[in-house]
Amino acid sequence: MGTYYSVKVARPPQGMSAESLQPQVAKVLDAVVAEISTYDPTSELSRLNRNPSTDWIPISAELYRVVAEGQRISSLTDGAFDITIGPLVNLWGFGPETRPARLPSEQEIAAAKARVGWRKLELRADPPALRKARGDIYIDLSALGEGYGADRVGVWLESQGITDYMVAVAGAIRTRGNNAKGEPWAIAIEEPLPDRRSVHRIIPVSNRALSTSGDYRNFFEENGKRYSHEIDPMTGEPVDRRLGSVTVVDDSAMVADGWATALMVLGDRRGPEAAKAQGLAAYFIVRDTNDQPRGFGSPAFESIMQR
Ligand code: FAD
Repeated sequence: MGTYYSVKVARPPQGMSAESLQPQVAKVLDAVVAEISTYDPTSELSRLNRNPSTDWIPISAELYRVVAEGQRISSLTDGAFDITIGPLVNLWGFGPETRPARLPSEQEIAAAKARVGWRKLELRADPPALRKARGDIYIDLSALGEGYGADRVGVWLESQGITDYMVAVAGAIRTRGNNAKGEPWAIAIEEPLPDRRSVHRIIPVSNRALSTSGDYRNFFEENGKRYSHEIDPMTGEPVDRRLGSVTVVDDSAMVADGWATALMVLGDRRGPEAAKAQGLAAYFIVRDTNDQPRGFGSPAFESIMQR
């Protein structure tokens, strides 16, 4: 998935080893890539993106699940989160294509924006199918994909009788049970700094999932301005705000992953408002005028930290 993953198992069932587990975990993640990757031209999603039909197109139950979650978050954020964002992500060089040598022009942004809009997608649950309002809609599930991968690996581990584990697919983490010391899994939230890794806060997260999105790893700079991979569908441009990162804690890693991106796009004012309104456990790190990070949690975040 163009990134790293890690699986920790405390108290594994007898006879199970890291060596026996690894290829099977890789198989689960390969299946995820075959379903929803825009980087694999043979995946179900890539084939769907190339399909110019505006009739109902049958899709797998797995692809349906991820698209349906994307559409749900879009409706709750008034379209700040939008899985049809793909043409803009690619135009700004954050997708599978190589980054263009110059910034996109207004005309290019307008042309890509015309293809974007979550209401241009219709979903049907039974049997699972999708209909595009335009043949050139391009769906990008990267905002949900790592979390979806962590959930899929977690569910598979549970099917093998594993009760205590932590799965991380890049910034998306899912845990169950306790660590090898019998304590809750502890996860570090990083400072949003591009040039080094340092811990901002460690939080206990057991039997839950967590995901962080930020503007400090995947970005480029031009003429002193930072362009990060979170794109505002309204402007067609990367978000440029004081918000450095958002971490969301939820039962599902896919949901946490999607909302972390959504709250980043909403920004340091509308993001916390949306987290409060939706009862989301979210932790925001904003940069003050001296570029110093300052963190604060939503009411739901503070209440789970006190338990
Ligand atoms: P997140 O914050 O979780 O998501 C940000 C991403 O969401 C952006 O990069 C963009 O794609 C999308 N996005 C931006 N704005 C919005 C918005 N307003 N609404 C909704 N979505 C938005 N990368 C490679 O380099 N090579 C690979 O082979 C590769 N394979 C992958 C396979 C799979 C199945 C997936 C899911 C991803 C793959 N990636 C690959 C991409 C990469 O690893 C990350 O998923 C991607 O960079 C975003 O994850 P993140 O956690 O960094 O950011």
